[in-house]
Amino acid sequence: MQRTLAIIKPDAVGNHCAGAIIKRIEESGLKICALRMVTLTQQGAEGFYAVHKDKPFFSALTAFMSSGPAVVLALEGENAIRRWRDLMGATNPDEAEAGTLRKEFGASIDRNATHGSDAEDTAAYELNYFFCGVELLR
Ligand code: ADP
Ligand code: MG
Repeated sequence: MQRTLAIIKPDAVGNHCAGAIIKRIEESGLKICALRMVTLTQQGAEGFYAVHKDKPFFSALTAFMSSGPAVVLALEGENAIRRWRDLMGATNPDEAEAGTLRKEFGASIDRNATHGSDAEDTAAYELNYFFCGVELLR
């Protein structure tokens, strides 16, 4: 069993697509262990994306991620990290395969509807960033 951190980003929440995306998560067989709506501060988004702090898109990314409410979820299942990333599709919705969430709900690379951890160590950091131990007891 593996856990991963998923985010329904502010663009998708603002477009009233959170429910549709949660439905797709449930249909995929991934288990939702925890779920919360959160509006990040700029500083909160910067801490979450610290790995990207030297990228040219860092300030735009963190401004966007703190621009409105997001939904954060802890997902669990066999190969949950890979499965959630496959369900999301490529980072750039223009390059994402048909049927993926980013193709369906994303507008552009900087408005791509969802986030997913990319490895076990980042999943551990990201899950811990949003959820405390007692919230993950399942
Ligand atoms: P992913 O979210 O697929 O793991 P990255 O970790 O590389 O992708 O990037 C984090 C987020 O930063 C992406 O989801 C996207 O919203 C944004 N991003 C990545 N690359 C760019 C770019 N070239 N221009 C603008 N935003 C970007
Ligand atoms: Mg990433």
